[in-house]
Amino acid sequence: MKLLKERILSDGAAFDDGTLIVDSFINHQMDPILMKSIAVEFVRRFANLPINKIITIEASGIAPAIMLGYLLELPVLFVKKRTPKTMASAYCSTVYSFTKECHYDVSVSKEYLQEGDRVLFVDDFLANGNAALGIKDLVEQANATLVGMGFIIEKSFQEGRRRLEEREIHVESLARIANLQNGQVTFVE
Ligand code: 5GP
Repeated sequence: MKLLKERILSDGAAFDDGTLIVDSFINHQMDPILMKSIAVEFVRRFANLPINKIITIEASGIAPAIMLGYLLELPVLFVKKRTPKTMASAYCSTVYSFTKECHYDVSVSKEYLQEGDRVLFVDDFLANGNAALGIKDLVEQANATLVGMGFIIEKSFQEGRRRLEEREIHVESLARIANLQNGQVTFVE
């Protein structure tokens, strides 16, 4: 996605530890016009699949997911990074965070993720695939079907895509990064 790649080059910051900071348009301040274009591209890539719900994980996945849900006229379910006391019955899993370097629990109410659901997972980044595999676990606990996974940015030098494809998950990423060394972003051709 040309527009997204240009924005990453102009406003992203690459670090030698393998982190890309995109706080000015995705992770802190958001650009809703770009987010809409991102959702349109996800529609182009996934609209032919039998999806009845978009699933994401708080917080940064919510913006692209809601835009996509709006365009496809589908409900958007966001997985929580803790289990609120008010959630009577939930599926839970544990995920390792690449950015925070710790484990955290994720949960989703059994009321909103059910057997027969055909879900598309959307998130901001694919790195090692830990968040994505946590979602896969939740979807399997519910006996729902994971139709595909869409990421705004994939760091292709990390293990995520390989780990997901090994499990036969359909993965689409709008910008695939080959390298972040020396402060330079290089995309996969
Ligand atoms: P994974 O679970 O695939 O290892 O990491 C994905 C999650 O970690 C994403 O949801 C994202 O929040 C965060 N993340 C991983 N790498 C980066 C990065 O380079 N920059 C930012 N901003 N977030 C990242």
